[in-house]
Amino acid sequence: MPIILGLESSCDETAAAIVRSDRTILAHALAGQDDHHRAFGGVVPEIAARAHCELMMPLVETALADAGLALTDIDAIAATAGPGLIGGVMVGLVTAKALAMAADKPLIAVNHLEGHALSPRLIDADLQFPYLLLLVSGGHCQLLRVRGVGQYDRLATTIDDAVGEAFDKTAKILSLGFPGGPAVEKAAAMGNAAAVPLPRPLLGAKEPHFSFAGLKSAVLRAFATGDYAPEDIAASFQAAVTDCLADRLEYSLSRMDHKPAALVVAGGVAANMAIRAMIEKIAARHAMRFVAPPLWLCTDNGAMIAWAGAERFAAGLTDPLDVAARPRWPLDPAAQPARGAGVKA
Ligand code: AMP
Ligand code: MG
Repeated sequence: MPIILGLESSCDETAAAIVRSDRTILAHALAGQDDHHRAFGGVVPEIAARAHCELMMPLVETALADAGLALTDIDAIAATAGPGLIGGVMVGLVTAKALAMAADKPLIAVNHLEGHALSPRLIDADLQFPYLLLLVSGGHCQLLRVRGVGQYDRLATTIDDAVGEAFDKTAKILSLGFPGGPAVEKAAAMGNAAAVPLPRPLLGAKEPHFSFAGLKSAVLRAFATGDYAPEDIAASFQAAVTDCLADRLEYSLSRMDHKPAALVVAGGVAANMAIRAMIEKIAARHAMRFVAPPLWLCTDNGAMIAWAGAERFAAGLTDPLDVAARPRWPLDPAAQPARGAGVKA
């Protein structure tokens, strides 16, 4: 049974994990960099890349030791090859190339988004293709039909900010601390969601896409009035985001003739309980199975990259040692750009 080592370094988590193709997680080592970036209120790409350099090999050694394996026991080495902060992506990918070359093992270049997209199948053996995936993370907000390994239809995307980015900016505006998403959720639990009138961008729009930039600006304006408690702004913001996601999801579902059997949520924002509960409710309304990976598998980690590597390896998909790191790498290159969208994948 193939054993895959997976490396992740696309943002501010350095991770190495070892997964067997029967879904056994043999090791899962991860180091966050929050302390490196806290003073700046956001991830600084150069600092992140340097930290990945220092952390990656010790984590690989930890993972091998935890699994009780030597590098020669590994069947293939997978690493995130994009999209992400290019300096960090290069650190993980170059490490994987060096290990693959030294141990004479195949290399698998994994799209980080494919890591998120396939991660639910690591913990749920019954999750069959196709399924509908809401990918909500620090860099993305997309609705995808997952038809198979390497087969994705992007049904909707954000025309401006990612949803996690909106959480992080809101936390920064409200001085709630870093990382922002969990801080906003915590503050929101103590606030009144009806206290601050905030817009719901694209609510009711006859197109499937998402938008969060206007909401972020509205948070800034509400805060600047000095009239509202940060907890109330956080609660009102979280409610607005949840309403937008629900409305956009319902719009896409209403236009689908053949709904997949499962609705899956993945990405860091899937850790938000209010958003999870909303998606679960929508899944029930459409008689779809709701699947959400455990929280540790929602945020960036090595196991999802190792698992995507295992799925690709099983499909015979490996990559040459000169494969390039890619700052942008859409899962569905054929998708039409959204109206008004920037250059984000
Ligand atoms: P990822 O890009 O998948 O690593 O996810 C990181 C993003 O998820 C960041 O923008 C976080 O602020 C966001 N995030 C993490 N936990 C939560 C939460 N509980 N609520 C909202 N956003 C969150
Ligand atoms: Mg991610």
